[in-house]
Formats: sequence, C-alpha cells, structure tokens
Amino acid sequence: MPTVKITERLSAGETLLLDGGTGSELQRRGVNVLDGATDRLKAWSATANIEFSDVVRQVHMDYLRVGADIIISNNFWTIPSRMETIGLRDRWKEYAIAAGENALSARKEGNPEAYVAGGIAAPTMQTLADVPIPDVEHMGTVAFHKENADHAKLLADVGVDLILAEYLGFIADCVAAVDACAEAGLPVFLGVRHIGPTGKMQYSDAIGRMRESEESLSDLSEALQGHSVDAILLMCSHPEAISAGLPILRDSFDGPIGGYPNLGYNPTGPIVDRTMLTNQLPSTGRDILQTHNYSPSRLAEFASEWKQMGAQIIGGCCASGPEHIMTMNPVVKD
Ligand SMILES: [Zn+2]
Repeated sequence: MPTVKITERLSAGETLLLDGGTGSELQRRGVNVLDGATDRLKAWSATANIEFSDVVRQVHMDYLRVGADIIISNNFWTIPSRMETIGLRDRWKEYAIAAGENALSARKEGNPEAYVAGGIAAPTMQTLADVPIPDVEHMGTVAFHKENADHAKLLADVGVDLILAEYLGFIADCVAAVDACAEAGLPVFLGVRHIGPTGKMQYSDAIGRMRESEESLSDLSEALQGHSVDAILLMCSHPEAISAGLPILRDSFDGPIGGYPNLGYNPTGPIVDRTMLTNQLPSTGRDILQTHNYSPSRLAEFASEWKQMGAQIIGGCCASGPEHIMTMNPVVKD
C-alpha cells in the first residue's frame, strides 16, 4: 500500500503516470474480449478477470514495470447491467472482485508505491438507441446509482486506493456516478469519454464537448461544483481532442486534470456496423489496433503538451500499450 495518499501528491503539484489500455492489450495478447458478443461489445474484457487472470495480472505488471504510478483495475464492464448481456448478472461480484484482486496482487509484486484505481465504466446502454440518452434516463436514477455505489463499495472493500468513474458521456451521468462512487469513502476521479469534435457540429463549436451529448466541459465543471470529484480526466478520445479539451477543463475546474487517449481501437471479430475507427480511418474489419498515427514518441509529444496545459495524470486508453507508457514516462515525470 502506498505510503503517501494520491490526493496529497497531486496537491503538491506532482504529475503522475497512468497506465495504458488493458482491454485492448488483453486482446492483443490473444484473450477473447468479446465473450458472448454477437454484434456489440457486451461485457467486453470482464470475463478475462477470472478466465485469463494470469494475463490480466501480466498486463498490470508490464505497466508497473515501465513506470506507471497508477494502474486501473480491469473492472471496465463487470457491472451488473453489462454482465447481464452475457448471462452472468448473478456472478458480477465474482468478476468485479477478481478484477480488483488482479490489480492489487500486481501492485504488491510490481511496485507497492503504485496506486490502484478501481475503474467503473458507465453502462452506456443508451448508445444502442437511435438518439443517445444518459444512462440515468435509460436505466433510471435509482438503478444507476445502486450499480455504481455497490461496485465502488465492493472495490473499496477489496482494497483499491481510489475509484475512477470512467467512460461517462453525459453531464447527468457524470454527476450521478461521482455521487454514487463517493459513498465508498475513497477519492473519486472522473473519466469523461469521447470528447468532440462531433460529426454534426462545426469544428469550432464542437471543441471541448462530449460527442454524444454535445454538452460542454465548462458546463460539466459547473455541474460538478459541490460534488465529490477529486480529478477530472478526458479519456477514450483522440489525442488531438484531448489537446483541445484540456484548456477548457483547466479554465473551468480547479482540481487536478488529466488525459488518457484512445489511439484507434477497432473491436473486430463478430463486431459489425463499425465502419470507422476511432481515429477516423476506415476499418478493414481485421485490424484490431491501428496505432500508426500515434507512435509512442508521438504520444510522448502529446503528453508534454498536456503537461504544459496543467495535466497531472497522463496515460493511455484503448490501443495504447506498455511501449507508449514507457516512452511517455520521462516526459510525464520530468
Ligand atoms: Zn478507450
């Protein structure tokens, strides 16, 4: 267990290195992260926490080996609503606990001073609808709150150091998620997904907005005033979008900020209806990771830019790997 609290290090002005993608890295190492999926991600890499726990631990270890100060447990979609999509709702706790334990055992062996963020991703069930709506509307406020609060408390009991409520794309969901996660009594970080530009808006209007909701980051910061959020990070967005969004976040939010970008993840196999990669390149349907636009050294340049913008937590999301985090390390911790 780390000797200094993460919030103290951030308050002291330190910049911390976050890990890179875990689900995509598991996929790169041959793990089937599309268990039970036919046309969507379903619970994504959740089952790997038990079925391939050795590989999950190895991914965490590799991030620690290259200097990550924070690793995110592989809880991305061990939440009940997502486990239900593969018929495992009754067993969500087993997988959620396993994810936390995998990260904690890697930390113990790899670097006891590193922090484990218990990652809880938004159900994102609404993206199945024609017009995306907040999860709190789709599943109801009470169910959304319970899912997040139960998960956060469970991870706190397992022993994580903070809760990362991530992959949230609507202001209403962000506020509800941090409130629920705060009930676990740990620091709460918020990871906001899919920063614009959006397809519908003019580029200048779309900068710093969440792609599905078109809500602005400054409105998000305002909505979070008085709520328990210890850091806000922009995630699972193009590096360029994070560069555009961070200054808006810096202007509107007083606490620590950060970013961890998606470098171009294309879920493949049975996944259909995804003609574009997240980096806007056409998909061939075979490639799972197209990172050639974002080499490790290119990402290190972005990291330097983000640090100058005031980011204190910097890492990678989908399609980033240990080679990216290793190359960002000296820039982030300089
Ligand atoms: Zn991502």
